[in-house]
Amino acid sequence: MTAVIISGKEIADKKRQEIAEEVKSLKENGIVPGLAVVLVGDNHASRTYVKNKEKACKELGMYSVLIELPEETSEGELLDKIHELNNDKQIHGILVQLPIPKHIDETKVIESISPDKDVDGFHPINIGRMMTGQNAFLPCTPFGIMVMLEEAGISVAGKDVVVVGRSNIVGKPVGQLLLNQHATVTYCHSKTKDLKFHTRQADILVAAVGIANFITADHIKEGAVVIDVGINRNEAGKLCGDVAFDEVSEVAGYITPVPKGVGPMTITMLMYNTLKSARESAERS
Ligand code: NAD
Repeated sequence: MTAVIISGKEIADKKRQEIAEEVKSLKENGIVPGLAVVLVGDNHASRTYVKNKEKACKELGMYSVLIELPEETSEGELLDKIHELNNDKQIHGILVQLPIPKHIDETKVIESISPDKDVDGFHPINIGRMMTGQNAFLPCTPFGIMVMLEEAGISVAGKDVVVVGRSNIVGKPVGQLLLNQHATVTYCHSKTKDLKFHTRQADILVAAVGIANFITADHIKEGAVVIDVGINRNEAGKLCGDVAFDEVSEVAGYITPVPKGVGPMTITMLMYNTLKSARESAERS
């Protein structure tokens, strides 16, 4: 079998066009969706992510502001800045780029963002709302995966899903969203006894581990849907996912590539969440 490639890039382009249309119509009513991105310190990868987010905002006609704070910023100073943004009417989404310097408590920072502007979907209130199936900002990468599955015409209800990885930003929430859509979900992680035993049962496998080419053909059931969240560099320095793409493509029914897979969906869903926030804020006022 040669797997069908689910192009995150193509789906993201389509979704971005839809978002741009909606931004245009909001603007006609005097509302410009605005995103504030806070970057603390000088992490090279974070700087690239932040630039990409700014670029996406610009392309979709949204307002964006980048707040760059030095590495030595105190926790209090960062919390003050977030408080200011919580009260800024031009700002509908606040994102603090992680990781932040070690001397600042990440949990405190996440909890200081107004749940109504938490476009990353990391605030416990949004996580709770997601778990209970209420209106919430969904975390962008898991949300992007759900949209990819939907756009590829893959139904989730009743499927056996295995999520490898249990981080708060990817593994746990993607399993929850799949459960909300009536999948039977198993989580695997670094302490799982027999990983292959589980992954070989999966109709849908989500790999969110962070180890290059970790998932090989012998982890996969014939015809399975394989979603590769990983962003890694192989020995040659080339960008690659958690899934050994060439060999797994021979067994899987569907597969997402890296790059141009889950990655482009993540920023797209951030833009979607910012638009949603602007829309909901207009409805409240
Ligand atoms: P993380 O390091 O927080 O979590 C990794 C998870 O993998 C852990 O839960 C751990 O238990 C599990 N794990 C580690 N070794 C394992 C093993 N031997 N067997 C089974 N499970 C094992 O990482 P994360 O933040 O969830 O990110 C995972 C990957 O996804 C990374 O490569 C990251 O760069 C990438 N990522 C991509 C996007 C995107 O937009 N495409 C977004 C976020 C993260």
